[in-house]
Amino acid sequence: MQNLSLQKALKKPEVKTLLQQLGDSLGKNFAIFDIGGHCLWGKAQDSQPKVDIYCHQVLMGTITGEFTEHSAEAIAAMLSYIVQTEYEKKQLAKDTLQKYEEVVFLSQFANAVATCTGLQELIEVIRAEIRQVISVDEIFLYLYDQSQDSLTPLLYKTEESLQNFKAIEKIVERVLKLNQVEVIDDIQNDQDYLNQPSKIRSLLCYSLTVQNSIIGVLGLAHYQVKHFDSSDLNLFSTLTGQVAAAIRTAQYYETIKNYSQTLEIRVKERTMELEFAKQQLEQVNQRLKHLAIYDELTQIPNRRYFTSYLEQEWRQCLRQKSPISLILCDVDYFKNYNDLYGHQMGDKCLQSVAKVIQNALKRPSDVLARYGGEEFIVILPYTDQSGAYTVGQRIHHCLAEAQISHADSPTSRYLTISLGIGTTVPLLHYHPSDLIKIADQALYAAKAAGRNQTKLKTLSFQCS
Ligand code: GH3
Ligand code: MG
Ligand code: MG
Repeated sequence: MQNLSLQKALKKPEVKTLLQQLGDSLGKNFAIFDIGGHCLWGKAQDSQPKVDIYCHQVLMGTITGEFTEHSAEAIAAMLSYIVQTEYEKKQLAKDTLQKYEEVVFLSQFANAVATCTGLQELIEVIRAEIRQVISVDEIFLYLYDQSQDSLTPLLYKTEESLQNFKAIEKIVERVLKLNQVEVIDDIQNDQDYLNQPSKIRSLLCYSLTVQNSIIGVLGLAHYQVKHFDSSDLNLFSTLTGQVAAAIRTAQYYETIKNYSQTLEIRVKERTMELEFAKQQLEQVNQRLKHLAIYDELTQIPNRRYFTSYLEQEWRQCLRQKSPISLILCDVDYFKNYNDLYGHQMGDKCLQSVAKVIQNALKRPSDVLARYGGEEFIVILPYTDQSGAYTVGQRIHHCLAEAQISHADSPTSRYLTISLGIGTTVPLLHYHPSDLIKIADQALYAAKAAGRNQTKLKTLSFQCS
């Protein structure tokens, strides 16, 4: 009622006119004084009767004049009514403005929180918005996890805040348990106040509920006692519903975000695993392809590859009426070599022989393959007998140069080789196996003639 003012009411022109008319119609002088004895209306005079003017049981002033007490009381009642009406008008305007500001704030607040996606961002917005309308020293938020029955404090900026909040932890738990709003004028008088250093004195605490389940506690704290009043409580109550809904949305959003991140990581891991498996599969396939073509020991093409390559080149030469030759190579006295140096050395020796023969070949179409144990075969497409012979001589020469010791060979101190060359110009009624057969016969002849030499044979029944 501090705002009730007799002086202000008497300054209003309509009140002035009313009092003037009243004085005129009564034909009496009267004066009105405030509680300090200052004359607010009429001429100051010390007359009787003196009647007090009250408004809502508050003394506003006195009225005195040259009339009866009854008239004085009637004028005092009228003035009291005028002052009260003025006051109520002002109060109504103030309340309306306050309500309007609250509505504006609430809609701003709703907009601000609705655009937040992350929990941390939301918390910052809540802090900033609340500080605009309620003066607070600390704003705190505890999130409640129902499955764990645990409260997690948020909004800690400093160590000091943490200390402050620890002191009110039990109070917060109570608010949560009772699911209510509490205004605590002085936390030091509260039974649940934990006696540890804290600047907080007054608290406004509210449990946050979404669809009947409690999700946390929001609180405002002030370092002065009795800081919060009923208007703070009302506004705060309106806010908490929106805060709760926004927090739940942010929590869902973060859960979904975390889930999608985990999913992304899992997909990446799975992709890497698949990529690795694919690479391994490719390596195995390469290895299988290699094994299907190459001989394990010497790493030159195997007999299977030889057969298919011979058929292919045979057809080409048949079409082009070109000669084709085979050189069948057999290491001399290799059994002796194994017996003398051991099987492992024998294997190494075969690897060396393969390399020597390979190096003796010049054309890309000349292909060396392992034909059997210590037997090799060379396909020479588009090569006649003399060309094949030249290649054979080169093989002998290269092997001699390699000087692979063979102490138990009757032919030489070094490893030697016998070659049987078969040559033909393919005809339709010939078959590749016919060419192999004559090469084998030529080899047999070379062996029979004392080894370490080349014998030639053609499929046209000319033997040399
Ligand atoms: P010739 O001069 O008549 O060809 O006499 P040779 O001893 O070379 O012929 P023979 O057919 O009697 O012996 C071939 C030997 O080659 C017998 C076998 O143990 C050996 N051999 C065959 N394949 C391999 C192999 O992969 N590694 C080793 N170390 N030895 C092999
Ligand atoms: Mg042999
Ligand atoms: Mg042999």
